[in-house]
Amino acid sequence: MPALGLGTWQNEAPEQCAESVRTALEMGYRHIDTAQAYGNEDAVGNGIERAAVDRDDVFLATKVWTDRLAYDDVLESTQESLDRLGTDYLDLLYVHWPAGEYDAEETLSAFAELRDEGSIDRIGVSNFEPRHLDAAKEALDAPVFANQVEMHSLLQQTELREYCAEAGIELVAYSPLARGKVFDVDVLSEIADAHDASEAQVSLAWLIEKGVTVIPKATSEAHIQDNWAALDLELTEEDITRIDNIGRSRRLIDPDFAPEW
Ligand code: NAP
Repeated sequence: MPALGLGTWQNEAPEQCAESVRTALEMGYRHIDTAQAYGNEDAVGNGIERAAVDRDDVFLATKVWTDRLAYDDVLESTQESLDRLGTDYLDLLYVHWPAGEYDAEETLSAFAELRDEGSIDRIGVSNFEPRHLDAAKEALDAPVFANQVEMHSLLQQTELREYCAEAGIELVAYSPLARGKVFDVDVLSEIADAHDASEAQVSLAWLIEKGVTVIPKATSEAHIQDNWAALDLELTEEDITRIDNIGRSRRLIDPDFAPEW
């Protein structure tokens, strides 16, 4: 899975969203993250189609919303996602939240069916805590490929990182720029200044250094480019320790159907 992808939540205007995806792919991004709930799978599909990049070279991920997690609904809604995205397979399909119609046995057996018939390459989950990952492993008889969770320098997810490393589960950090909050953290600004980089690049480079995949959402070419350059930023040991020690716990995404964290 490419370590840096493009997030698309709230990139809703169809033309803008398609252009953001095209721009990112032509710049070198090879990982795009969307979801049924974002209402932009059509636009994401258009962006992939427009880009001078083969579909097979793109790692494409979407997520099944909480009201489509019963067995038949998973199969049906995934087919609808494939149609909107203009593709016949997904590289990764996530359970968006362990909520609503989610039932480990029922939901994940539908995901396994999709994998066995070739509509999806990998099974992922999102917003899962260790207890949900344990139940998923039991239902699937194997660990899930990835868990996508909120993670950034202000919510470092130390325990979940340890759990996933041990369990062989990839972590994907959503809201890796803390939805813009990283620009107001002095430590990040100081490190950014020292490297002639942006706080966004420092934030992403720190996560990538931890072995975590990042999917910052960016709309304009300037932001898409700024984030891409994080791949070239090498933080020092001291930078990493300073960020490790920021010592804040700021969760930004916590809807009322979220699990107890
Ligand atoms: P984010 O990536 O932390 O931050 C996005 C915000 O930062 C946008 O306002 C964006 O503005 C701005 N930005 C991006 N790059 C920038 C740069 N280089 N300099 C200055 N500003 C910059 O937040 P997010 O959208 O919440 O999270 C990223 C992705 O994770 C989402 O798009 C979605 O794909 C996924 N996600 C998943 C879940 C889940 O439940 N699984 C939940 C939340 C998010 P512009 O748009 O103007 O560029």
